[in-house]
Amino acid sequence: MLVAMALLAATTATTAAGTAATVPTASEPAIDLLVDASDAPRGVFHSRLVIPAAPGPLALAYPKWIQGEHTPTGPITQLAGFTVTALGKALSWQRDPLEMYVLRLEVPAGADAVTVELDYLSPPATFGSGYGETPNATPHLAIVDWHDLLVYPLGGAAADIPIHATLRLPRGWQYDTALHAEPDRQQRQPGQAADATTFATVSLYTLLDAPLLAGDVFRIIELPDPLGAAPVRISLAAGRAAELEVPAARIAAYRRLPAEAAALFGARHYGEYHWLVALDDSLDQNGLEHHESSDNRGRAALFTDPAQLLRGGTLLPHEYVHSWNGKYRRPAGLATADPLAPLHTDLLWVYEGLTRYLGDVVLTVRSGIRTPEQSREHLAFLAATLDHNRPGRRWRPLVDTAAAVPAFDDAPAAWTAYRRGRDYYDEAALIWLEADTVLRRRSGQTRSLDDFCRAFFGGGSTPPAVVPYTADDVYAALGRIVPFDWRGFFTSRVEAVQARAPLGGLAAAGWRLVYDDRPNEFQEAGAHTQETVDLSFSLGLWVKPDGTVIDVVVDSPAWTAGLGPGMKVIAVNAVKWSAEAAADALKAAAHTTEPIAISAEQGDVVRSFRIDYHDGERHPHLERDPTLPDLLQQILAPRAAK
Ligand SMILES: [Zn+2]
Repeated sequence: MLVAMALLAATTATTAAGTAATVPTASEPAIDLLVDASDAPRGVFHSRLVIPAAPGPLALAYPKWIQGEHTPTGPITQLAGFTVTALGKALSWQRDPLEMYVLRLEVPAGADAVTVELDYLSPPATFGSGYGETPNATPHLAIVDWHDLLVYPLGGAAADIPIHATLRLPRGWQYDTALHAEPDRQQRQPGQAADATTFATVSLYTLLDAPLLAGDVFRIIELPDPLGAAPVRISLAAGRAAELEVPAARIAAYRRLPAEAAALFGARHYGEYHWLVALDDSLDQNGLEHHESSDNRGRAALFTDPAQLLRGGTLLPHEYVHSWNGKYRRPAGLATADPLAPLHTDLLWVYEGLTRYLGDVVLTVRSGIRTPEQSREHLAFLAATLDHNRPGRRWRPLVDTAAAVPAFDDAPAAWTAYRRGRDYYDEAALIWLEADTVLRRRSGQTRSLDDFCRAFFGGGSTPPAVVPYTADDVYAALGRIVPFDWRGFFTSRVEAVQARAPLGGLAAAGWRLVYDDRPNEFQEAGAHTQETVDLSFSLGLWVKPDGTVIDVVVDSPAWTAGLGPGMKVIAVNAVKWSAEAAADALKAAAHTTEPIAISAEQGDVVRSFRIDYHDGERHPHLERDPTLPDLLQQILAPRAAK
């Protein structure tokens, strides 16, 4: 019911995107796109487009606002070699003086198309947050993100523009994608070696939604689909075969993941689903969601190093949940039909925050990717970070971290604690946990957030489609599960400045946030994989292994002593800086009233600091509150039939 109403209510916003998955009508001539990725290992992708055009002015746009990145991170600086010809003659072009993603030219009389050639230059190292601003190729693999590789004509319904794409890969490379190769011109099945593949004509929306992963060290893991007839698979590309050795226990958990998602949502909105996983130390460690696939990137040892296996375990379930929450159901401000249109990101506390809760906590444990104990360590870490290490929460409401992300996405690590980071992920996850406990307790444990998910994201399986929603739609849907002041619940937590983190969900679920000297398993794995010495819960700072201070928590002991980001610690208690020296100083401080002595360089100055701290090592954990039932255990229990 809600779905149908939302469709009717937002017809104008959804027309282009809602029909995007359909095959374009034959009457509209398609853009022919040839991408030659055979030189991708060097970082060069060549594109040639034949774009139908009428004589007169023509404006061509390079995709700017990237769905899933939520930001204007189309890699315009990596577009080079742009030339346009018509009737065999080169045409001059000018960049729009205000919108630099738009190039303008004049199509000569007698022409019915222009031919555009351009190169996308994959950067050898990350320089921004967008996927075109991080490396898209290594000597052994390439990720074909179509938005990096094309321009499209402005003036019509951009999302509906039909595109007929052909891709050339390095000889012998395998590939996978949610796109379908053209049946009559298909040379080989996906996953098998193919030098050139032509894909069935799709809309621009569908093409941009369907990246392709290729490589010469490749593995496909097929998974069972509990709802039937929809292939679900993981495709991995890496530099060495040993990096594809996913532990058997992790594969077993991945095999349960579609079943647990089916039990949670009751329906799916894809015809097939592909996790495309690229493994290399030069790649971004991140994921980008799509309707029928996700572009997942991790370090080479993502599946072979226990610390990375723990930290990175949530990547695949997180991106998978986005097929429902983010792609199918999408905040109205993110359901744009043209990549030149700005995205309104204020509802990312639903899009990303609920995905953090459902993907990184609920489905991760229900499928067996993490144990309940590991998940509690994760929850303790993020709750403590938001409560203890976020002085920025005293000035900045949670919603602003979402609404302002297009401007804040490339903010430096220094001062993150005071500025706040992308807190709409973790903090909103805690709020959604609290909403789950409200549903369970107010209904006498007969209803839960699972019922909301079935109603809001399920509603019968469909092919990819976009059904936008507003915050009021979310509150109304929750109210149909359990009547409650949901608007008041969320606005007080999301829109108001709150000096303390939302810990009510943990408390209502029967768990208390406590600190002691035992290492937190999740925090420790992070310190290992990110090469950070994390002293945040004790002294209030994070330090690189070489002593450089990454950030300091305002009003923490380190802050009060005068330390700041960018300083380089050279000695602790007159011992040369190391993680071990810091740990020894913390232990010793618990048995003395003497402050911890720090020597640090700042430019050409060496300064001494005295940190008045005596609580020893301090790490967050969850502790059972025996006076309440363990709702967290019930939330994390598997739902799917074995
Ligand atoms: Zn996400």
